[in-house]
Amino acid sequence: MIAKVAYMKRMHLTLLLCVSLIVACATSPTGRRQLMIVSEESSISASKEAYVEMLKPYAQKGKIDNDPALKKRVYDITGRLIAQAIKMRPETKNWEWSIKIIDDPKTVNAWAMAGGKMALYTGLVIQIKPTDDELAQVLGHEIAHALAKHSAEKMSVAMASSIGVLAVGVAADSKGLALSGASLAAALAVEKPNSRAAESEADRIGIELAAKAGYDPRAAITLWQKMAKVGGKGPPQFLSTHPSPANREKKLAEYVPEMTPYYEQKGDRPVYKL
Ligand SMILES: [Zn+2]
Repeated sequence: MIAKVAYMKRMHLTLLLCVSLIVACATSPTGRRQLMIVSEESSISASKEAYVEMLKPYAQKGKIDNDPALKKRVYDITGRLIAQAIKMRPETKNWEWSIKIIDDPKTVNAWAMAGGKMALYTGLVIQIKPTDDELAQVLGHEIAHALAKHSAEKMSVAMASSIGVLAVGVAADSKGLALSGASLAAALAVEKPNSRAAESEADRIGIELAAKAGYDPRAAITLWQKMAKVGGKGPPQFLSTHPSPANREKKLAEYVPEMTPYYEQKGDRPVYKL
């Protein structure tokens, strides 16, 4: 254990050295300054590995995409949202977009990694009972996190803090994930809360993606109301990783008039083939 801590410290020093040479900032789609030590490109490649590793235990038990009706529903909604995401950030057409449904009725959660690697837990569907419009808000919000590079930002913040780097090592021990370095940081990032600023940004982008994909923007408000009402053992995991920004419902309600014309637009909506 001592040797391991020493090793982690050494790794940490090396990492800090690398990091200090390439410290960079970026600007988010809504104009917010972001700490960006981990480039989006490296966060995407790290996430690919982390995604496979995180889904593996469920895949081995046949708990991925095992309900054909739910799969069709979720893939259809997500495909419509991704088509809009690509319109918003055209270079993301090269991402290997993916959503997997994890059969875990107790977990009310959904997440997105860099590069559009997403997961939805059946607990969210069973316990929240979202309409299609509300489910589109959840998925649109997740896609927004990926579009706005929030995973790279979270990985950057973790790697910039000495506690964060050591914590990554400790958490790795407890989780038994066969990952290291950036891939491990990518896996752990989905369990770390977003900042409230990132949440506001994902709310704003998510409601727009959903409206443009043909989903009622008013569902963004009812979704969060339903989320807050889910009881059981503490609040849903989704609420701990997506903390409520100030006046969430009020702000979402303010977006509705601007989003309604997108939602009411006639004609076919494009669908990305998943
Ligand atoms: Zn969020």
